[in-house]
Amino acid sequence: MLSNSLVELDRAHLIHPVASYRGHEAAGVKVLTSARGATVTDASGHQLIDGFAGLWCVNAGYGHESIVAAAASQMRELPYATGYFSLGSEPAIRLAAELAQRAPGDLNHVYFTLGGSDAVDSTVRFVRYYWHARREPLREHFISVEQGYHGSSTVGAGLTALPAFHAGFGVPLSWQHRIPSHYVYRNPAGADDDAIIAASLAALDAKIEEIGGAQRVAAFYAEPIQGSGGVLVPPKGWMKAMRARCKAHGILFVADEVITGFGRTGPLFACSEDDIIPDLMTVAKGLTSGYVPMGAVFMSDHVYDAIADAAGSSAVGHGYTYSAHPVSAAVALEVLRLYENGLLENGARAGARLIAGLQSLRDHPLVGDVRGRGMLAAVELVTDKQRKTPLPAAAEPAKRIFDRAWKNGLVIRAFPTGVLGYAPPLCCSESEIDAIIERTARTLDDTLADAEVR
Ligand code: PMP
Repeated sequence: MLSNSLVELDRAHLIHPVASYRGHEAAGVKVLTSARGATVTDASGHQLIDGFAGLWCVNAGYGHESIVAAAASQMRELPYATGYFSLGSEPAIRLAAELAQRAPGDLNHVYFTLGGSDAVDSTVRFVRYYWHARREPLREHFISVEQGYHGSSTVGAGLTALPAFHAGFGVPLSWQHRIPSHYVYRNPAGADDDAIIAASLAALDAKIEEIGGAQRVAAFYAEPIQGSGGVLVPPKGWMKAMRARCKAHGILFVADEVITGFGRTGPLFACSEDDIIPDLMTVAKGLTSGYVPMGAVFMSDHVYDAIADAAGSSAVGHGYTYSAHPVSAAVALEVLRLYENGLLENGARAGARLIAGLQSLRDHPLVGDVRGRGMLAAVELVTDKQRKTPLPAAAEPAKRIFDRAWKNGLVIRAFPTGVLGYAPPLCCSESEIDAIIERTARTLDDTLADAEVR
């Protein structure tokens, strides 16, 4: 009863993110009511393993009483403090210090945001300010990677290089450029790591040339693993090679770790594993494990100092009401403590089991590719393995696969390209990982039986 009326209210009033509005009205909302560990429960009592940790954000898993206590206690003491007027709060200051200590290299300065999109937006503003400070205002062009995702603000959606996020919105903007992805499974350069890296370097050089030379380019943006583009894992050494080439050109390198940060690929930051120190780095999602909203920009010493010196006694005019929110910061501090008290280790173990389990499905007639790192993985479905033929888009495969997995007790992300995305909470037990694999196998068999797919 309750659920039926909610479906009607939702249909009439709630606009959902990245949804076909009419399609959603027809299908109706699935209302989630509670969650513990890696399991979510819907309004009908159906229990599912959340193989996508919400939206790849609930890295710690659901139901941690210590996180609830941290938030409640902070709300009681001091629910809000602005960072304007040189004010601050203890949890925000401590969090910045703890994060800076753990971030790669000299990423010693932290600017807090509300999520990933405004973190990306903030980097664009800081990068522009930096080049003005350095008296190189002609550096106004930004380069990102096809299949990359960098948020849903106008600026971020323009850096995003996925057509679905451009259509109807008048982006990308004239100063936003893209180079092809490393997409190993479908790379025209073949599957050889060195050839793919060489092709990306050549594409970056050519793009810089096309823009009019490095003296016009401000920054290059990359995700350590492209998430929303379909969990595209670059060849080992790709990030390092791109970072070095940017340095050689004098271009700032921005690593977008909104998905990969906080244990998703194993360590706290994927950049550490890639052995790079970006000039700026964005995080969100796992920072608070989705319990409350928060994101952050990490800034290296030289970027911070250039901005600070240029501004002198003037204000750097960039700020949000909820920057460094004390409740979010208190939550993030507790989440960080949990990561470092067993969760990262459990995630690394569970991630190896997840990827091995998904690899064991390679012989299934629909499985074209299996890829991943840590607790971030994907299975790419095809109708012809030799030709790598994608699933027919007309059959709305993504929605139907999602619904089949749901019926089988598993939440996954089903991308419109026929890619199944996995990002389970790091707290998953071995038996939960095994259940994810078993339910995926059943979902694949159900999909194979679907006449429209064949
Ligand atoms: N950057 C990346 C790499 C992301 O994956 C996302 C979100 N999926 C964002 C930025 C935007 O973050 P948010 O949705 O928190 O605004």
